[in-house]
Amino acid sequence: MNRPTEYRPNAIALTIAGSDPSGGAGLQADLKTFQQFGVYGASVVTMITAQNSLGVRRVENLPTDLVLDQLDAVLDDFQPVVAKTGALGTAETIDAIHQAAQRFNFPLIVDPVMVSKHGDSLVSDDAVAAYRRLLPKAFLVTPNRFELEKLTGIALNTNQDVAKAIHDLHQMGARFVLAKMGHIDGQSEHILGSGKENIAIQSKQFDTQNTHGAGCVLSSVITALIALGETDLKRIIQRAIRQVSISIHNTQAIGKGRGPVETRVLANEPDELTS
Ligand code: PLP
Repeated sequence: MNRPTEYRPNAIALTIAGSDPSGGAGLQADLKTFQQFGVYGASVVTMITAQNSLGVRRVENLPTDLVLDQLDAVLDDFQPVVAKTGALGTAETIDAIHQAAQRFNFPLIVDPVMVSKHGDSLVSDDAVAAYRRLLPKAFLVTPNRFELEKLTGIALNTNQDVAKAIHDLHQMGARFVLAKMGHIDGQSEHILGSGKENIAIQSKQFDTQNTHGAGCVLSSVITALIALGETDLKRIIQRAIRQVSISIHNTQAIGKGRGPVETRVLANEPDELTS
């Protein structure tokens, strides 16, 4: 990614997400990523977590009306080009975002965050059904393997299972689906579903445990590129996947556990990615 020489004046992106005080994931990762792309970031906080690279110690969901008041305050004043959701916490808050999204005149990217990389739950049990209700408002939904199984109720054992699950998300109303399938045969695999076709996108798998925030950064790069006016979703997603590979490669082992991916722009791209 090139360092932006100036901010694009009207490139405003909104994240509706949880706070990660370690700065690796959640709204902190989103805002850092927006900033790196020269995109102005606004943020509505849904939950406060107490966590570090070793694990999540506490999760406190903010009252839904406080989430909505933040959203109203931002939208009464600013015109985002695009918004994304991260960890939303409760079914009540997801339903409230769904209700509010009826009047969004910009695309919404739904990253259906359910658990942290340590396996700690970040949503209540009834959130899955609420996420299904939100899908008709999603321009793009970005589930990982676990979230795809939860949202569809399909155990993903074969490629056919994955195709059926992606199909089901389209049926539930999501315009585009980006399934983050994880590591397959030494590669990291993503599948972009348009409703008409599924395109597999492979990227290099790096041998590191420092992947905290990778999902947040992926959906934030996509959001930032849309805020910058890019419209070719396949190219946007290819670029975002590549950017996350660079972020994972450049991770600096901050902390004692699963460290965050690198959100700063570093000069060196890994040789393995330049071909
Ligand atoms: N949002 C918050 C507030 C989190 O704490 C986490 C993970 O800990 C996430 C989102 C998802 O992080 P990742 O991008 O690693 O999936």
